[in-house]
Parts: sequence; C-alpha cells; structure tokens
Amino acid sequence: MNPAWRRELRPLLLLLATALAAGYFFNEFSFSFAFACGLYILWQWLQLYRLHHWLQQGQSTQLPSTYGIWGSIFYQTQRLQQRSQKHQQRLQAIINRIQDSTAALQDAVLMVDSHGNLEWWNRAAGEFLGLKAPVDVGQPITNLIRNPLFKGYFDSVNYDEPLSIPSPVNAQLQLQFNITLFGRKDRLILVHDITRLKQLEAMRKDFVANVSHELRTPLTVVSGYIETMDMAADSLPPRWGRMISQMAQQSRRMESLITDLLMLSRLETSHQNQPDSVSIRSMLETIVADARALSGDRHHQLTLKVQSDDQLKGYTDELHSAFSNLIFNAVKYTQDGGEIQVSWSRHPDGVRLCVKDNGPGIDEHHIPRLTERFYRADPSRNNQTGGTGLGLAIVKHVLLRHQAELEIHSTLGQGSEFCCHFPAERCLTDTEPTI
Ligand code: ADP
Repeated sequence: MNPAWRRELRPLLLLLATALAAGYFFNEFSFSFAFACGLYILWQWLQLYRLHHWLQQGQSTQLPSTYGIWGSIFYQTQRLQQRSQKHQQRLQAIINRIQDSTAALQDAVLMVDSHGNLEWWNRAAGEFLGLKAPVDVGQPITNLIRNPLFKGYFDSVNYDEPLSIPSPVNAQLQLQFNITLFGRKDRLILVHDITRLKQLEAMRKDFVANVSHELRTPLTVVSGYIETMDMAADSLPPRWGRMISQMAQQSRRMESLITDLLMLSRLETSHQNQPDSVSIRSMLETIVADARALSGDRHHQLTLKVQSDDQLKGYTDELHSAFSNLIFNAVKYTQDGGEIQVSWSRHPDGVRLCVKDNGPGIDEHHIPRLTERFYRADPSRNNQTGGTGLGLAIVKHVLLRHQAELEIHSTLGQGSEFCCHFPAERCLTDTEPTI
C-alpha cells in the first residue's frame, strides 16, 4: 500500500479503536461511533477548506503542513502547479523570441483573425502600411489597407499568386502581399518590398524596347539595300548571289525578331484601353488564308471549324498576333502534307480556340518551358523554320491580358494541340451553336 494511504489509515484505525473502547466502556456504541465519524468528517472538511484556501491564495503562500493522504495531495498539487508554471514560462519565452525576431524582420508580418480584423503586426508592417498601435488593433484589415485590388484579393481566399500594389502611405513603394490561411480561417500576411525589383524590371523592359526600336531603322535601311541587291542577283556572280540571298534571309529574320521584341514590350508596358468587340470567325478565316499561303507548296491540309459566331471582348491586334503565332507554328513545324485543324468552340466555362496538328510533337519535359522567351524544343528544327523563339511568349502575354489560359498537349511523333481558354465573361454574343 502507498505510504500516504498507510499514514492515513493509522489515525482512522486509532479513532475507530478509541470509539470501540469508549462504546464498550460507556455501553454506548452507536453514540461513540457517530461521534468518531463526525470527528473524522470534520477533519476531512478542514483539510478541504485548507486546500481550497491555499489554491485561492495562489503560489504566494506557504504549502500547508498536514498529515496522511492530504499531505500527499497538497504536495502533488504544488508540483503540478510548478510544472505548469515552468511550461508557461517556456512558452512565453518562445513567443517572445518569435515576436522579437519577426519584429526585426525587414518584411512586414501581420496576423488577421477569422473575421478579418487585425490582431498583431511587426515594425515593418507599421512603416509599409502606416499602422498605429493601439488604435488599429481589432480594425478590419480592408479598412486599413484601402485598395479595391487588396480587398478583392483578401476576400477571394485564393492566395496561390501574390498581389502587388503600391503602399497606401507611400505610392513610390511597391509591395507584394502573400496571404497564408491557418487555424480557423485566420490569416498570416507577409508583405515584401519589391520597389527595387520593379525598378529593375522597368529598366529591363525599357532597355529591350529602346534597343529594338533603335535597331529597327538601321536594319530597315540595310535590308532595303540587300533586297535590292537580291533582286539583281542574276547579274552578279553565283557566289555573290548565294551570299546576298543568305544576307536577305538573315535580315528578314532579324526584322521578325525586332517586331516580336517590340510586340512583347508593348504587351508588357502598355495600359489596356477600351477593349474591341472582335469577330473571331472573320479573324480566323483571314489567318487560315494566310497560313495556306505560308504553307504554299508544302500542301498542308488546313481545316477551320467555327462552332459559334462569337464576338470576343478583347484587343484585335493582340488576338490576331496570338492566334496567328499558334496557327503559323503548326504550319512551320508540321511535315509537308500534314493535317492542321483550327477550331473555335463554346464550353460551359467559356470559349476556346484550339490548333491541332499531326506534326512531330514535343517532348513532355519541354512543355512547361515553351512560353519562356527564346526557349526552343528543338533548336536544329528552328534554324530551318526561321522562328524567333518569342512566338509562344507573345501568346502567353496576350492571353494573360485577356484572363485566358494556354493549354498544351503534345505527344512525340503524333502531334500537338495548343488551346486558348477564354472565360465566359469575355464572350459577347449569345447565339446558338452553328456547326
Ligand atoms: P519559334 O519562333 O521558335 O517558333 P515559339 O515560341 O513560337 O518560337 O515556339 C517555341 C518552340 O515550341 C518552338 O521552337 C518549337 O520547338 C515548339 N513548337 C511550337 N509550336 C509547335 C508545334 N505546333 N509543333 C511542334 N513544336 C512546336
């Protein structure tokens, strides 16, 4: 038996023996037993009172000294309390360290509760967003960062992509917001200062745009002379004729490179004006006619299927450029006599253009990188086609500006399919499908 219980049992047995002896002596067994029980209950009650009183006083008072099982209960309770105190102190120290380190971070950190109210933020958040303690604690975050883009992003609960907006207190400061959900719809917001990055990006865009623009005039002059010489190639020695036709070919390639670079920088820098209402049927008919001309004596079998006479809300030049890049690529990369199907169709979630060919196909590992600038799946093939490596990058940018997505399916040796998915909001007409 546990020693504490043994110590508890001893006085109880003594009390019972005394009650028995007193009962025998006075011949009053029931009275002496009742008296002994009352005494025992009183003692237990007194211990309960002391325990309650000691617990109420907290840790400030001395542990009451007592006997038997109560001594053990007091001692164990005190140990439990001390242990939980130590645990609490350890947790507090960890919280303090985390708060100190996040406070020292150069990035802003904010914690927002499940109702969208601001709970805590670090020093950088105060600077970037102009938050002031304690007035802003408990305020809705969308009232403190008053920007419709931020509100839309915050309420969307889709935080796969970060949001970039200027700081509400300093328009020169470009901030990138990353939101993470945790707990019961609580949010941790990380804000990164991307001003320098944006400046460098703007410098890069300006540089490419300026260089392309500056190169255009001298190149036009040089190509003009080369074209003239090429036209008179018959009167030149054969060796010169070959050289001049190669020069003409290379200068045409440089011209298309510059045109594509200028197109890309226009897509990146220009602001969107009022969109046009683009007739897709006539646009595709024109492009397919051009593609037939491009195919020439390579005799591709080009078919066009327009399922509905939709008008698309978009930018005519950009869409023309994106669609022709896809269709001309199919002509460029598909073997002579190959099949190319161009289709425009409706789907429950929008409309889409697909360009399918039975050409050489693209190895799976190239597909995620195809829309990168100058990325080529097969550089040797490109030398023959004269591609710039910018076509799919242009397609990606145009689609981005139309909230559309590019999907690429391809199997080596069987062919490729490039589909552009436009959201239903972009579709203007509501006519029944006419195949
Ligand atoms: P390029 O000007 O070189 O054609 P793009 O950006 O248009 O550049 O295309 C990138 C690469 O994707 C191409 O170099 C080619 O390897 C591959 N590609 C694009 N379209 C097709 C297609 N229809 N069939 C096979 N490969 C293709």
